[in-house]
Amino acid sequence: MQTRSRALAWDATTAIEALAGAEAALWEWTPGADRLRFTGATGALGLGPLAPECSSAAFVALTLPQDRSLAEGLLKPQPEGAEVALRLRMRDGRLAVWRGVWLEDGLRAAGLVACDVKFSGSDRDPLTGLLDRRAFVARVAETLSRTGPVEIVVADVDRLRRLNEALGHERADMVLSALGSRLAAAFPPEAAPSRIGEDEFAVVCRASPGGRAPADRLREALEQPLRVAGFDIYPTVSIGAVDAEGGPDAPDAGELLRRVELAVEQAKTAGRGGAAAYGRALESDSLSRLAMEADLRNAFVRGEIEPFFQPIVNLSSGAVAGFEALARWRHPTRGLVPPDEFLGLTDEMGLMNDLGLLMMTRASRQLAEWLRRHPSAGALFCSVNLSVGEIERPNLVEDVSRVIADAGLPRGALKLEVTEGDIMRDTARAAEVLSRLKAAGASLALDDFGTGFSSLTWLAKLPFDTLKIDRYFVLTMDKDEGSAKIVKSVVALGRDLSLEVVAEGVENAGLARRLIDAQCHYGQGFGYAPALNAQEAEVYLNESLADGAAPIKARSA
Ligand code: C2E
Ligand code: CA
Ligand code: CA
Repeated sequence: MQTRSRALAWDATTAIEALAGAEAALWEWTPGADRLRFTGATGALGLGPLAPECSSAAFVALTLPQDRSLAEGLLKPQPEGAEVALRLRMRDGRLAVWRGVWLEDGLRAAGLVACDVKFSGSDRDPLTGLLDRRAFVARVAETLSRTGPVEIVVADVDRLRRLNEALGHERADMVLSALGSRLAAAFPPEAAPSRIGEDEFAVVCRASPGGRAPADRLREALEQPLRVAGFDIYPTVSIGAVDAEGGPDAPDAGELLRRVELAVEQAKTAGRGGAAAYGRALESDSLSRLAMEADLRNAFVRGEIEPFFQPIVNLSSGAVAGFEALARWRHPTRGLVPPDEFLGLTDEMGLMNDLGLLMMTRASRQLAEWLRRHPSAGALFCSVNLSVGEIERPNLVEDVSRVIADAGLPRGALKLEVTEGDIMRDTARAAEVLSRLKAAGASLALDDFGTGFSSLTWLAKLPFDTLKIDRYFVLTMDKDEGSAKIVKSVVALGRDLSLEVVAEGVENAGLARRLIDAQCHYGQGFGYAPALNAQEAEVYLNESLADGAAPIKARSA
């Protein structure tokens, strides 16, 4: 009785003060009136803008995108007595626990919302609920002093910038948040799963020789396909690792983090999905990498990047049918740099679209010149490679159409090479862009065919003109009956679908012969010529025109 009367004596102000102190608020939801009411520490919960009352739409809009369906669930009318219990993140990153009950059938629910102390601590990354960078460094220091030798592993999500551009910020955040959950599920709390940068996740593991490498576990956890807002995403990560021992002379946790991030940088220059361990050599590499970044930026400005042209030859007649433009960097001191050595960096620096446009423009001009000078060459084409994700960039179609018009090329003369992976990400969208490219006057080739593991159902539906068989299958045709069968059936498939088939990797006359037997139309490979500079390519073209039917250059074999 005593207690009860004292409780009754509590005034509203005291109650609200108590709620504020506990970082909690009362809520009441009345679906009929579309009204959500709050009293208490609404500010501390990220609910400030909604207090004292708001509509359901305003509430949902203030939650994080990936938590929106949860928020909608909270508001969905339930029978009397149904419990409400969930954790919800607000846009400002605060995470709160909601508890309550439906008081009348679908008419009214009420309860308490309180700060989730477990996750909202100041050492948490608000998006993923993982530890943040500072907390991670502290945990590394602690683990080192307690358990001895450890391995620190950092994964950097490849192409996050691209993801942001393609999906928008909110969806990219959903991807990061999903990756965070996977990391937390794959490693125990002792490993301190953390988000230490925009696109960097980290763990620290006790060194256990013979056990499965933490780097492998990390990759396995993060590289699972996921579906976000209707998009299939195939995340890949670049991984860096460093081993560390404790001890008075050992580098501290901050220095270790610097080292492991250097290893990540190294892994990234190798292109997506790479891995590297820290070693002395990386210190000097990182300087050279900085220099290389500056170099590469300049290369674009100074026009050091240019197309080389590899002939694509009609297998049975030996006539040059066209060329594939392949990028080369004419470096002032390093000489001719092949694409494998600078595409990774170009991508990371966000210059891939510039490269695409540059290659398209220069290849088209060159082709137009050849067509003018060698009318007897007939319908020559030139292929240009689109990089991963390029078909998703805005203005691609406009750029292609302008390049073709500026060069004065006939329809179909500029051919764009796209890889399977690029189409699989969003088949419907790719189909649309491909038709628009085609309408803009480009022809289309599916590159590296056979290397993806995609279904073929969409192939007939997409407006490709050309199928390029990956050189792996061609090169192993001689030794591997399986490859030979694949080549034969791909050619047959292409023919059935009225596509022209180009075999890559034709290194000798023997392969050319087998491809002719398989009724393959075109060949490309070192047996004819490697990628040539513009002058050499023109000489090659001339010779083929003069010979009428130039046999394979590798006239031997
Ligand atoms: P890819 O599109 O498959 O290009 C064919 C690659 O195979 C070229 O290497 C070419 O030199 C090589 N090759 C040609 N014939 C033979 C042969 O008979 N045997 C063997 N073993 N290889 C042969 P390259 O020029 O080093 O280009 C490598 C990759 O870089 C290309 O593969 C392409 O994916 C990419 N790339 C090149 N230029 C560009 C570009 O301008 N833009 C984009 N996005 N990617 C490019
Ligand atoms: Ca290609
Ligand atoms: Ca290829």
